[in-house]
Amino acid sequence: MDLEALFKISHGVYLTGAKDTTGRFVGSCIDSVMVVETTPQQVIVSMNNASYTMENVLRTQELTLSVLPYDTPLELIDLFGTHTSRDTNKWSQTKHNLFHDLPVYQNAVAYMFLKVKETTLTSGHHVFLCDVVDGQSGTMANPLLYADYQAKKTAHKIQKHWKCSVCGYIYDGEIPFENLPDDWVCPLCNQPKSVFIEE
Ligand code: FE
Repeated sequence: MDLEALFKISHGVYLTGAKDTTGRFVGSCIDSVMVVETTPQQVIVSMNNASYTMENVLRTQELTLSVLPYDTPLELIDLFGTHTSRDTNKWSQTKHNLFHDLPVYQNAVAYMFLKVKETTLTSGHHVFLCDVVDGQSGTMANPLLYADYQAKKTAHKIQKHWKCSVCGYIYDGEIPFENLPDDWVCPLCNQPKSVFIEE
């Protein structure tokens, strides 16, 4: 199976918002949302079984969804996507508004309040069929598509480079810096590979 084939199915990037048992806001970054009915309004949201936010959605049966804009900082997606709300207070570090007493991203293209109607379990996810109780359009920006996000992440990595901390030379050879031989030296100041820093 070529997993790339699945990634060609267009979808967006979203933040979820929910409340844990202490009343603290929790949230995650997800990419699996699909509109299945417009009358009445229903969406399907798929959330990872390991997600603390998922646990709280399962418990409270409600959540918010923020549709991220094209220019969303990668750091925000990283905060919501790779950290857990179990020990990180993501919403306190993020500009947000309250919608039905739950947080939504301030720059969201659209945001909505969902109530879970049915839950299906797959091997790794809880799949929630939700009623869209309320929804609003936000900023005028285009929504961020998952494919755009992947492209931005790749471009961001390429922009990173290795710099000689002694003379400031920036390595721009074709061989990845990591693969250069151990005895390679800076072409300007002859210092060893070890003085180079990634930035
Ligand atoms: Fe140097």
